[in-house]
Amino acid sequence: MKRKLVVGNWKMNGDLVRNQALLEQLVRHELAAVERAVCVPFPYLAQAQAALAGTPVALGAQNLCEFDDGAFTGEVSARMLREFGCRYVIVGHSERRSLFGEDDAMVARKTAKALAAGLIPIVCVGESLAEREAGQVEAVLQRQLDALRTELTPAALAELVIAYEPVWAIGTGRAASPEQVQAVLAFIRAWLGEHGGAVRILYGGSVKPDTARELFSLPDADGGLIGGASLVAGQFIEICEAGASASHSA
Ligand code: PEP
Repeated sequence: MKRKLVVGNWKMNGDLVRNQALLEQLVRHELAAVERAVCVPFPYLAQAQAALAGTPVALGAQNLCEFDDGAFTGEVSARMLREFGCRYVIVGHSERRSLFGEDDAMVARKTAKALAAGLIPIVCVGESLAEREAGQVEAVLQRQLDALRTELTPAALAELVIAYEPVWAIGTGRAASPEQVQAVLAFIRAWLGEHGGAVRILYGGSVKPDTARELFSLPDADGGLIGGASLVAGQFIEICEAGASASHSA
């Protein structure tokens, strides 16, 4: 059995009371056949670290600074994330790329920093709708992936998790079709085979309980990155269950 990985991305949502209820429900639900993680906003890392301690649900963050420490007001370093028990960090989410000006080179530098600190980066890649309609999906993915090679050795590349998140599917309720997803995952798998090695590849973009099982069972899918549905305990648990059953048939 190859265990799937299901990661929740809370984005900028939550409060102390709701987080506690959500985290308690997640850890109460035992699911050995799937790896689970939640990536929470920075101010809630301590709360989530305490709630997840000693449980199989791992902790992650949603971003990190490309520098180690110093005069970078408002930034959070990889070392700080490690201090709060983070195992994962999302890097280069499309919202960071489009709203906060993160380019491929910065994403690569952040990825290297995360790895150097012992974090597992979940590097997000994916095309916009305009790029898909212009037939540029592979070119965009190739550019985003090639940028990682400027900062990472093949051995380092093999440590990553890659999340394929088509921008047009994020938060829109319109998940990519299984055929569209598999085609891109296979492209990423081939690129990794050439340059890095075996890496877990996730799909993200409007995954819901009713679509998760099919998406996670695709030949090149190792799990999913879940936004909106990770904020609703029942939905996230159902998606994790879909991951567990896809693990059994992998
Ligand atoms: C995301 O933000 O990474 C994501 C996949 O969001 P959603 O599931 O809401 O589309």
